[in-house]
Amino acid sequence: MIFHAFLIKYAEIAIKGKNRYLFEDALVKQMNIALSKIEGDYRVVKEQGRVYVFCPEEYDFDEAVAALKTVFGIVYICPVVIYEDQGLDKMREDVVEYMKNVHPDYSGTFKVYTRRAKKSYPVNSMEVSAKIGESILNAFPEAKVDVHDPELTVSVEIREKIYVYSKSIKGPGGMPVGTNGKAMLLLSGGIDSPVAGYMIAKRGVKIEAVYFHAPPYTSERAKQKVVDLAKLVAKYSGPIKLHVVNFTDIQLYIYDQCPHDELTIIMRRYMMRIAEHFAKQDNCLGLITGESIGQVASQTLQSLAATNEVCTLPVYRPVIGFDKQEIVERSWEIGTYDTSVLPYEDCCTIFVAKHPVTKPNLKVIQKSEEKLAGKIDELMEEALRTTEVLEIQ
Ligand code: ATP
Ligand code: MG
Repeated sequence: MIFHAFLIKYAEIAIKGKNRYLFEDALVKQMNIALSKIEGDYRVVKEQGRVYVFCPEEYDFDEAVAALKTVFGIVYICPVVIYEDQGLDKMREDVVEYMKNVHPDYSGTFKVYTRRAKKSYPVNSMEVSAKIGESILNAFPEAKVDVHDPELTVSVEIREKIYVYSKSIKGPGGMPVGTNGKAMLLLSGGIDSPVAGYMIAKRGVKIEAVYFHAPPYTSERAKQKVVDLAKLVAKYSGPIKLHVVNFTDIQLYIYDQCPHDELTIIMRRYMMRIAEHFAKQDNCLGLITGESIGQVASQTLQSLAATNEVCTLPVYRPVIGFDKQEIVERSWEIGTYDTSVLPYEDCCTIFVAKHPVTKPNLKVIQKSEEKLAGKIDELMEEALRTTEVLEIQ
């Protein structure tokens, strides 16, 4: 059976009152972007509180669904068969034909739900549903009507043409990107930060990213891995501006000047400072990290507090309460896992101490940082100046 269109359902957006139109427009825009990446002339149309995708004559169903599944804000994708309006008798035949194709030998409970978008239609919705239900019962002797809790709802929408659908494919949910400002993701090559970026983008937030690179200690391949992860997140979030910061000299200087058990914390404080610099420059309203309480020494509450202290923007940590396994499962679902586990070194692991402090004392950390005073500003400026910016599509 050829589906001619998709009806897009978007629950969360619908409750946004006056802002509803802004949300719908953002949704349509993101759907157009997603569909432009695949072959065929899809037409996205917003009408009477509904969003439809009209498909080209020939298209790849699975590819179209996969593209729509990357658009935040979509709760369900319903494939629709469209028939000409040639009167109620023909409509009854058409829906039976639809059932034979889409649910052959159907033997469960069902109901028909009719919606007249065209109010001038001469027969009312209840009557249309009853008549079609009767035809289905005749054609499917095992099937039964259950109007309260049916296993299958056959929806019939009467417009200029007749739209029939009964299947709902789950979309990603959330809100369309672009409806909730912008934030800066600290993107490493690990499992957690791509998931964190995905989760915040899912709430409608546009994402930028910053990656701290430490050549020659971290390789080009490690950087390429981060670029690849950014591409995977960008499938959902839309284009990502990725700042690649050369962090080597700052790390070496910290290594030189500070107690080694405090290295990670001090390094992370500099990462946050730099990330915040680019965030403010580009009007981002927050930072995002993949931190999770207790996962490593730098993620105890004390360490998080010490890292957080240098930030003035809010820091969003969407996986903060997840176990590693839960984050891993998310990364499978969104398709970043295989790339995340490629074995390239991270700058954090290269300069890591054998026994890092797990309960850093803020005063002590601040004291250690004072030793950097002479040269660190210069190194920071150099890092900002030499940062490479990549547009990830
Ligand atoms: P991930 O799996 O995201 O790499 P992790 O468990 O390895 O996380 P850490 O290395 O402590 O944890 O990093 C915590 C967070 O700090 C990361 O989730 C990421 O947001 C940020 N981060 C760490 N290293 C980098 C880096 N090289 N560039 C950018 N951000 C980083
Ligand atoms: Mg990491």
